[in-house]
Amino acid sequence: MIERSSTEKSGGGIRIDREKCVVCGACSAVCPSEALIVEGLALVAVPERCRPCAQAALICPTGALTCPVAEASRNRFNRARQA
Ligand code: SF4
Repeated sequence: MIERSSTEKSGGGIRIDREKCVVCGACSAVCPSEALIVEGLALVAVPERCRPCAQAALICPTGALTCPVAEASRNRFNRARQA
C-alpha cells in the first residue's frame, strides 16, 4: 500500500509528511515491526503492523514522522532537562 497524500496517518497515530521525507530509510531500519518499508523511491506504511514504539519518529533526520508516543517522549525529556 503506497500512500500518496502529503501528510498521512498510519497505525499508532504516526504521520508521514511527504514534503519532508527524503526516503533515507532510517525509520525503516529501526522499526521493530516492519511498519515502514522503503520500496524503490517511496516510503510505504503498513499501519496494521505499527505498535507504536515511536522509534521511527525519534530517529527521522528531517522531522517527517510525528506520533503521539514520540511527542510524549520529547515532552518528558524537555521537562527533565529544564528541571
Ligand atoms: S527517516 Fe524520515 S526522511 Fe528517512 S525515510 Fe523515514 S520518514 Fe523519510
